[in-house]
Amino acid sequence: VSIFSFHPVKPLTTFEGGALATNDDEIARLARLYRSHGIAKKRLWDSDQSLLGYNYRLPDVACALGLNQLKRLDETIAAREKIAKFYDEKFEKNPYFSTVKLPGDVVSSRHLYPILLFRQFWCAKEDIFAALHERGIGVQVHYKPTYKFSFYRERYGDISVPSAEDFYAAELSIPCHQCMSLEDANFVANTLFEVLKSFDTPQGCRV
Ligand SMILES: *Cc1c(COP(=O)(O)O)cnc(C)c1O
Repeated sequence: VSIFSFHPVKPLTTFEGGALATNDDEIARLARLYRSHGIAKKRLWDSDQSLLGYNYRLPDVACALGLNQLKRLDETIAAREKIAKFYDEKFEKNPYFSTVKLPGDVVSSRHLYPILLFRQFWCAKEDIFAALHERGIGVQVHYKPTYKFSFYRERYGDISVPSAEDFYAAELSIPCHQCMSLEDANFVANTLFEVLKSFDTPQGCRV
């Protein structure tokens, strides 16, 4: 089963909701049942509830938005790719962070453009985040390691996965979407460099 999110931050949205893709008829049958209270039509007005399902139906209006976005998906991804390519070139060999290199044969939806701050910036990340927001750059952090949520801590105790912790400490997602112009991307890149330069003090973080 593959799952897709159509949350508003994604390249294709239906406001909320998502989709499930499967080539297994039985999974598809169960998913359709769970989507609609576990109730299936039998004949005329008669129906049967065979399991306890949910109301997970995607509203028609949301589907209409999604279908329209689907028509423009190639365009949307190409526009995001253009911004991402610009960043890739602009950020090559910069002294503040690394980027994620895609293998040549991979096509990305460019849902996010993550950068990985070098270690000397990790302790100042909150201030860097705030400074960027103050200048109008809506950066985000993706994602907090799942095991740090209280739900999982209560079940599995305190876990530490060092590579996940390092990634979380280093990661910032910078704006990359189809409504941006190259001038916007250039503004983001230059502002990012300026802000990071101001935090690149000799004291750095105690590592
Ligand atoms: C995808 C995504 C969501 C929503 O995911 P759902 O599975 O649709 O709930 C929320 N926040 C961020 C940052 C995401 O990338």
